[in-house]
Formats: sequence, structure tokens, C-alpha cells
Amino acid sequence: MTHPSPTARPMDGTALARRITETAAADAAELQRRTGTSPCLATVLVGEDPASVTYVRMKQRRCEKAGIRSRHVALPATTTTEELVATITGLSQDPDVHGILLQHPVGPGIDERAAFEAIAPDKDVDGVTMHSFAAMGFGLPGFVSCTPGGIMRLLDAYDVDLTGKHAVVVGRSAILGKPAGLLLLGRDATVTYCHSRTADLSAHVRAADVLIAAVGRPRFIRGADIKPGAVVIDAGYNPGNVGDVDFDSAVERASLITPVPGGVGPMTIAVLLEQTVRAARQQLGV
Ligand code: NAP
Repeated sequence: MTHPSPTARPMDGTALARRITETAAADAAELQRRTGTSPCLATVLVGEDPASVTYVRMKQRRCEKAGIRSRHVALPATTTTEELVATITGLSQDPDVHGILLQHPVGPGIDERAAFEAIAPDKDVDGVTMHSFAAMGFGLPGFVSCTPGGIMRLLDAYDVDLTGKHAVVVGRSAILGKPAGLLLLGRDATVTYCHSRTADLSAHVRAADVLIAAVGRPRFIRGADIKPGAVVIDAGYNPGNVGDVDFDSAVERASLITPVPGGVGPMTIAVLLEQTVRAARQQLGV
């Protein structure tokens, strides 16, 4: 049996993330040389959820490799909202800390929004506060949510012209789908959001010039629904290293596509590192 040859060019997030990280490392070294201080990212983890422990460790290791110090705060699962807010407020006021990352999710008993809002806007390098979200919505300078920020960098690196294009975002979470749509709108795309209550999802997907899959369901979007020549960004990361798009069928329809792994995933941490160095430079006045 013969298969049609793939037509889509893969978008190499690993290579782009490496370049962004190298620049962040060079900037961190320059900052250390000029001020005697290296950037410092505080990571806050509540409880011991294995996936969260792994994510935080990975972020710390990447920081270390880029010359960014990390300060880890591990809190027990019994932590109250008040205790977590007090811890984050302390980090917000600590001049030796330039960026703060509160690992999501924080557990059922805690008011996560209150905890996020305790992050000082100038240290919100993960782009999770209402301040950062509003700045992004208004198109003002600020820190963006790292995964959508990484998606935009990938689109730019591959010269995807967004003006007047129909971008369809499947998923509307506060950290991914919603900000991704706002960033695309800010770049003059015509944006449609889809979610679990959307009627006739396939019809919307078929209309997409640029498709952002941010659902959290393995191989949920099939190639048959992808408009020939579309740009497909798969932000999904499901057990078994599987994305939200069925890669094998999508690659035969799309013009550009992110693989999983190696597409959006590495970009998230790269943007986090970049934003941490930027926060340190701003706070140190360099
Ligand atoms: P989430 O908070 O669970 O949101 C999932 C979104 O998908 C929701 O808006 C939901 O709609 C929508 N959805 C669920 N079922 C649907 C259906 N049948 N049809 C249409 N929409 C549907 O997830 P998330 O945090 O945004 O993450 C999404 C995916 O991205 C996951 O695979 C996650 O692992 C991955 N991710 C990757 C990175 C990275 O660094 N690469 C970072 C973050 C997340 P409702 O709003 O109606 O419920």
C-alpha cells in the first residue's frame, strides 16, 4: 500500500527554544557582569503532585543551565490560601527575587486566583496575573502567558502572516487558549474560539487558516478536518507524548505543523527564561 508523502513542514520548537535560551543565557551573563547579580526565579510548589514536581524540576534545571538562579519553595498540601498568599507576597517584596512561578494546580482547598494575584506584576514572568492578562489584552508591554507567547514566537519564526487570516483556537483556558486568541487578535487575525460547548466543531476547524489545538485530548483533531495548507499548532501534551492533533493525518493537509514532542512544549520554558531575564534587567535598571 502506498501512502501520500507528507506535505507539511514541521515547525522545530526545540531548535527555536534553544536559540531563545542561548540569548537569555548571554543576557543573564551580561547582567551578572554589569551588576554582580544574576537573575533569580522563585518557584513555588504546593503538595507533591508527581507531574508538578517534574515540571518544576525541569524549569529549575533549565534555569541553572542558562545562568539563572532558582529559589525553590516547597509547601505542604495542607497549606492554606492565607499561608500561600503570605509566602508569595514575601517573594514579591524580596529584591533578590526577580521572577515568581507558582506551579499550577495548587490543590483543591486553595484560592488559586488569590495566590496568583499576590505575585507583583513586575515579577509575573509566567504571565498569570490579571495585570498581565489586561496588559496583553490592551496590547501594552508586559509579561505574556508562556505557552501562548511561545506559540507566537513559533509563528513569527516561520514567517506566518496572520493579518486577515482566520485563526481558530480550540480551547479557552486562562493560561493557554484564551490568551493565545487575544495575541492572535492583536496581530490582526480574525479569531474564533471553540470549546466543549461549541456546536459543529469540525465546521469551525475546517475553516481555519491557522489552527491552535489546546484541548487536552489525544489526537482529537483529525487530518480530514484540516483545511489544505493550514498552519497547525498543537499545544496539547497528553500521556504517551501525544498531541491534540492526529499528526499522521494532519501532516498530509497542513503547510506547517508543530510535532509533539518538540513543537510548542520546549517553547514554554524558553519564554519563561527569557521573561525572567527581562524582569531582572528591568528591576536592576539595566
Ligand atoms: P484545560 O484547562 O483542561 O482546557 C481545555 C480546553 O479544551 C477547555 O477550554 C475545554 O472547554 C476545551 N475542550 C475540552 N473538551 C473539548 C471538546 N470535546 N471540544 C472542544 N473543546 C473542548 O487545558 P489547558 O491547560 O488549556 O491545556 C490544554 C492542553 O495543552 C493539554 O494537553 C495540556 O497538557 C497542554 N499544555 C501544554 C503546555 C506546554 O507547555 N506545551 C502548557 C499548558 C498546557 P471548556 O472551557 O468548555 O471546558
